[in-house]
Amino acid sequence: MGLRLYNTLTRTKQDFVPIDPGNVRMYVCGPTVYDFAHIGNARPLIVFDVLYRLLRHLYPGEGGAPDGSRVTYVRNITDVDDKINARAARDYPDLPLNEAIREVTSRTEAQFHADVAALGCLPPTVEPRATDHIAEMRTMIDDLVDKGFAYPAEEHVLFDVAKMPDYGKLSNRSLDDMIAGARVEVAPYKKNPMDFVLWKPSKPGEPGWPSPAGIAEPGRPGWHLECSAMSDKWLWEEAKPTLSDAGLARPHEFDIHGGGIDLVFPHHENEIAQSRCAHGTDVMANYWLHNGFLQVEGEKMAKSAGNFVTIRELLKDWPGEVIRLNMLKTHYRQPIDWTLKDLEAAQRTLDKWREVAISPCEAEYSAEVITALSDDLNTPKATSFLHGPEFHKRGTDGQQRAEALMHGALALLGLDAVLREGWPDEKYRKKIEVSPGVIHTFIEARAAARAEKNWAEADRIRDELDAMGIALKDAKDPETGELVTTWEVKR
Ligand code: AMP
Ligand code: ZN
Repeated sequence: MGLRLYNTLTRTKQDFVPIDPGNVRMYVCGPTVYDFAHIGNARPLIVFDVLYRLLRHLYPGEGGAPDGSRVTYVRNITDVDDKINARAARDYPDLPLNEAIREVTSRTEAQFHADVAALGCLPPTVEPRATDHIAEMRTMIDDLVDKGFAYPAEEHVLFDVAKMPDYGKLSNRSLDDMIAGARVEVAPYKKNPMDFVLWKPSKPGEPGWPSPAGIAEPGRPGWHLECSAMSDKWLWEEAKPTLSDAGLARPHEFDIHGGGIDLVFPHHENEIAQSRCAHGTDVMANYWLHNGFLQVEGEKMAKSAGNFVTIRELLKDWPGEVIRLNMLKTHYRQPIDWTLKDLEAAQRTLDKWREVAISPCEAEYSAEVITALSDDLNTPKATSFLHGPEFHKRGTDGQQRAEALMHGALALLGLDAVLREGWPDEKYRKKIEVSPGVIHTFIEARAAARAEKNWAEADRIRDELDAMGIALKDAKDPETGELVTTWEVKR
């Protein structure tokens, strides 16, 4: 069975047929770099990394992608946004805004790269930054205005949704329903409340570029437009010279577009409207994939709920591969409930798999795993095979093959780092290996030392636990007045 993917655009699972099999082209919306990425943001990163790995496996050898392979994966960085401006002004009040913005975006981008690498994600083929593509965005806006799909109004340029008959096709809603249910900003200069911003004016001091559509004042692009311009630049304009006749026959179209389910409307709907109207095409991308949402311990993740987990924080306690496996145990379109209990189980699973395949060997790819992944990225099914007997044979007949299969499957899932010598790092091992029983033995020995007023020994024991990553807390029991010692894993 070949690759099949659930397409939000058609609401069905479809056979995947690339436009040009010599260069399979995929775009995934990347981060807005103003703050640490959270564990929900990690989901699309991991899911689309598995798809990228699978595509590279299914389309091996040389091709037209910029790296000489047959798959081009573009994931952008949004480095112009109101949230970035606000963060820059807050964190660097003494710097000119432009410099402060550069500080915020470069530090956030560096952290983002460290996070995704720790999660086992391959770098995308191209990682364009919005501010490097302002000229392309301006050209696209002028094009849309010339063709009658957009209009300037009060220093803004707006997309005229009424001009596009099937606006709403991706999110499956009609313009009338949208207007009735929307809480959109009803700006007096909009012809229709659903018209969205392609370009807006910059306030003095804010980053700004020469405006399109004859607007005199400097401005900046709208978020949706960025992805339309960057995907076309890297998946069509730059790809053109190496595309086959089949690819050239479908100008400006590409294969896969991905992101979280919250991006379906308005972000992806608007990307489609801009790209299709600017280029006069029937589709922007042929397959639209969306991952479900992640919640933490049964609740929506929110700063106010106190359950907001950044990738960076989680990486202090868990190896990236544990986080990754825990993510892949749920199918990407289902909601996922992120719990500590599941992370612990994922750690135990990886320990077991690692034991099987610890010696280096040539990878072999299990047909069952490939088939499961090819069925709309069924990672829970794929990982379930790794528990099966074929992967755990011991003795002369079968052990070598079991190892080879384990190597192959872990590589496809992006979990092969667990096979590195010394995985996981010492810092994780310490936390994992210390069992509560051992800690209590230490605590009792310390209480005995204190009872004998042997303070030096009591302190030594506390320091020893500290070095193992365990912090002790002493408190008086309010009823008995006795000293009670509790412990926690240090962050
Ligand atoms: P944002 O920074 O909000 O633009 O999100 C970046 C990516 O993470 C997008 O693809 C979002 O759809 C995705 N995302 C954000 N929050 C979650 C969540 N809680 N669960 C799953 N995906 C999410
Ligand atoms: Zn986008």
